[in-house]
Amino acid sequence: MKLKLIYSPENVQRPVLSEIIQRTNVPINILKAEVKPNSGEMLIDVLAVGEKLKEVLSLFQKAGVKVKEITRTLEIDHVRCISCGACVSPCPVQAISQDENWDIIFDEEKCIGCRICVHACPMGVIQMF
Ligand code: SF4
Ligand code: SF4
Repeated sequence: MKLKLIYSPENVQRPVLSEIIQRTNVPINILKAEVKPNSGEMLIDVLAVGEKLKEVLSLFQKAGVKVKEITRTLEIDHVRCISCGACVSPCPVQAISQDENWDIIFDEEKCIGCRICVHACPMGVIQMF
């Protein structure tokens, strides 16, 4: 499950993520991180389900880190898309491709939310959530 973590000045300097990984033994991939002295945001992929996932969520809450579940990273307006392909090659993880009809295919599982495609699109038809 992809989660967005929002750190506050009170917890951004603490090793919350590594403590939770050690305590739960759950693998967590960091997809994106923006950390400043007084705040921070991370996009992570938690490789757990059921009770283990609940435990991870609860530990983030106890540490004062706000957690938002990310079910959709971005949306492409396929009506206004001109299939130019400008968003395909800049994507660092090949989350966007084109099919045989040049239609854009987006793979939510691969996307790390870097926004590069948003800036690359000349039509402004890619919207991040
Ligand atoms: S946000 Fe980044 S990773 Fe996701 S599709 Fe766009 S370029 Fe690729
Ligand atoms: S860059 Fe924009 S207009 Fe071009 S293919 Fe990608 S989504 Fe469509």
